[in-house]
Amino acid sequence: MDILTFLRQRAGEFRCPVCRRSLADCKMRQLNHSGHHYTVEVTCRKCDMAFVVALEVHGGEAEEELQLADEEEMPPITADELLQVHQALRGYQGPLTALLEPRDGEES
Ligand SMILES: [Zn+2]
Repeated sequence: MDILTFLRQRAGEFRCPVCRRSLADCKMRQLNHSGHHYTVEVTCRKCDMAFVVALEVHGGEAEEELQLADEEEMPPITADELLQVHQALRGYQGPLTALLEPRDGEES
């Protein structure tokens, strides 16, 4: 099963950390895959905020065994990653959307 398909099915359960809207229709792009670990870039369609979600896939056979990393205790988007975004943007004066590059139609 495709990790992006899995995430898409779950996306509606989560909210954008910036605008708090549902991520049901967010844009997703897989960045890395190493063993059980995946990183996926998620871009909110409401505010165009992009952030990285780290996941760990257990088992690898049945989709029911797929889990978001630390799903029980933590939101899928870590505070550290959001903090990195804020630090990267510190001092930036232009519009946030100017930082985001076109995705070449890679939507979902
Ligand atoms: Zn948003």
